Amino acid sequence: MSEPLVVMKDVNKHYGDLHVLKDINLEIGKGEVVILIGPSGSGKSTLCRTINRLETFEAGSITIDGKELPQEGKALADLRADVGMVFQSFNLFAHKTILENVTLGPIKVRKTPKAQAEKRAMELLERVGVAHQAAKYPAQLSGGQQQRVAIARSLAMDPKVMLFDEPTSALDPEMINEVLDVMVTLAKEGMTMVVVTHEMGFARKAAQRVVFLADGQIVEQATPEEFFTNPKSDRAKDFLGKIL
Ligand code: ADP
Ligand code: MG
Repeated sequence: MSEPLVVMKDVNKHYGDLHVLKDINLEIGKGEVVILIGPSGSGKSTLCRTINRLETFEAGSITIDGKELPQEGKALADLRADVGMVFQSFNLFAHKTILENVTLGPIKVRKTPKAQAEKRAMELLERVGVAHQAAKYPAQLSGGQQQRVAIARSLAMDPKVMLFDEPTSALDPEMINEVLDVMVTLAKEGMTMVVVTHEMGFARKAAQRVVFLADGQIVEQATPEEFFTNPKSDRAKDFLGKIL
């Protein structure tokens, strides 16, 4: 594997009595695309959220590009800005235009001058195919367009790694591919990505590795081809039997 960008070592997390992440050891190489898959409630979202400290964890360590995740303050804000996150619900700011949604982070967090932030935002909106909607508000766009804006907004921060938590599961079927296409392009351009998805087509096209999570544990890891055609563990077989 290439030099690891994200390293999780023995990460454990509880919600009260629920042991939601159990001894998670996971390395994600620079430029690698990893699919995180597993039953509902297995801890996929929690794992993503611990990577950028939207969630705390009690034991273990997480480093990004060799740096330990700080607990709080400016150091945390800086490091979090290195980790882009795209959620199932697009989470755009409803009362800001598409352009403002994309420039807000760079202006506020990265201290990029407004004109420069806007130029870059327009390039990114162009890349995800929604530049002509820049002056509109989120509610005026389709779900697929909003999700592409959410991706552009993350990219505007120049993240080192992008986390996608079921980015297409709230979309109407005809909009899924327009979002996946943007993600495939990103993957091919070398972005490091962790993607929670059941979209096998995307996994096969863009990912190097599937990580199967069940009950807060990594049960199995394999290439997409291997995982989907020849799962090893009973849990993975059972899970694939239900989604295929
Ligand atoms: P997944 O994304 O794989 O569906 P999650 O990471 O969302 O799983 O959740 C893992 C487990 O943690 C589930 O049992 C869920 O109910 C529980 N959980 C998630 N968030 C919280 C929370 N904020 N407080 C308490 N329990 C939670
Ligand atoms: Mg989830």
